[in-house]
Amino acid sequence: MGCCDTPGLMPVSDAISILLESTTPITQIESVALVDAQNRITASDICSPINVPPFANSAMDGYALRLADLANSKTLKLAGKSFAGIPFEGEWPQGTCIRIMTGAEVPPGADAVIMQEQTVVEGDNITFTADATPQQNIRPVGDDVKQGDVVIPKGTLLTPREVPLLATLGIGTVEVMRKPRVAFFSTGDELRQVGEPLGKGEIYDSNRYTIRAMLEKMQCEAIDLGVVPDCPEKLRETFLKAADEADVIVTSGGVSVGEADYTKDILDQEGEVGFWKIAIKPGKPFAFGTVKNALFCGLPGNPVSVLVTLHVLVQPLLAKLAGYTQWKPAITLKAKAETRFKKAPGRADYQRAVYRVDENGELLVATTGNQGSGAFSSLSVANCFAVLEQDRGHIEPGETVTIEPFNAVLN
Ligand code: AMP
Ligand code: MG
Repeated sequence: MGCCDTPGLMPVSDAISILLESTTPITQIESVALVDAQNRITASDICSPINVPPFANSAMDGYALRLADLANSKTLKLAGKSFAGIPFEGEWPQGTCIRIMTGAEVPPGADAVIMQEQTVVEGDNITFTADATPQQNIRPVGDDVKQGDVVIPKGTLLTPREVPLLATLGIGTVEVMRKPRVAFFSTGDELRQVGEPLGKGEIYDSNRYTIRAMLEKMQCEAIDLGVVPDCPEKLRETFLKAADEADVIVTSGGVSVGEADYTKDILDQEGEVGFWKIAIKPGKPFAFGTVKNALFCGLPGNPVSVLVTLHVLVQPLLAKLAGYTQWKPAITLKAKAETRFKKAPGRADYQRAVYRVDENGELLVATTGNQGSGAFSSLSVANCFAVLEQDRGHIEPGETVTIEPFNAVLN
């Protein structure tokens, strides 16, 4: 069973280890304005230059006071106001309180804020109807972030959760990693560009759209080298051009054993082949290697194989290359099969599937049906991969299945 049925196929985890070992992170750093920092990877730990909040401030609209004064009298005279941006200044006499708004600076010496709902106001006399505890409703200096704290570690992707944090700290420019440059092209005599009429036996090139869309989601600079026919000389030329322009070359098609499959031969001649066949379905004929200083990822031609191998194999490589050390693989969960999943032992299947939570809170997963590696339409109705382990055969309803909900790259 398992690997013995398919000798020579490399398990997915081994393939990922080799891909990662072969990848050296980019070292070039760029400085970008905060408005352009989203989707970039931090090149160093970012420490806070200030305390947040920078001054003790009120969490409520109410009155700042000294608890010692409140112990003497429940009614205190109003001595002034502190508004957000317009703090109370001057002398603050004993036995009085200060009107204060949310976010306004708490006057030095105040040790509590009482919310206005707990007061009775008669002219300048404020009567407090509730007791107060020390520091209540006061947000101390540095409560959220302390000056010098590492707020964002090196190797973090900047998202809507980090960009405003940097603004809070007054950081207007950020040191980020240079984006990986990825040159890509499709191969195949049968391929026409979108917009051209289809001749007999021809199909549209969709893989370049998959590759570009995913590369952009993976924060790469995508260099489109078009469609290359199944012609060894044209392929060689494009390989060498790609190697000069990019850190990584991604191609689709021509890595099988058909008569027009030249990609691997040219990789052999112009570079080095790392490995070739992987125990993954779809996506078995994946070629990896190097051409000059560029890494080479030769994806199969089948459209679903392109998406799956980019997701499973190329994504970790690009994350490492980009210096995205905080990258994590998509989360996996255990779900109960609602349908049968057809599978042969020998390869890890990444099947298109739909998960849902039923009325009892149980996680269920159903196949989308046709799992052909050209059946791209099922991807847009799927919301996860059913990741079916290499050694497993058919899965019957009720069995437990590992699922991987689509991550940000696929959503
Ligand atoms: P290949 O790996 O080159 O033998 O291609 C496998 C299958 O994928 C064939 O049916 C091709 O026509 C199809 N295919 C290859 N490249 C593309 C592409 N860029 N867009 C859509 N289908 C493709
Ligand atoms: Mg082909």
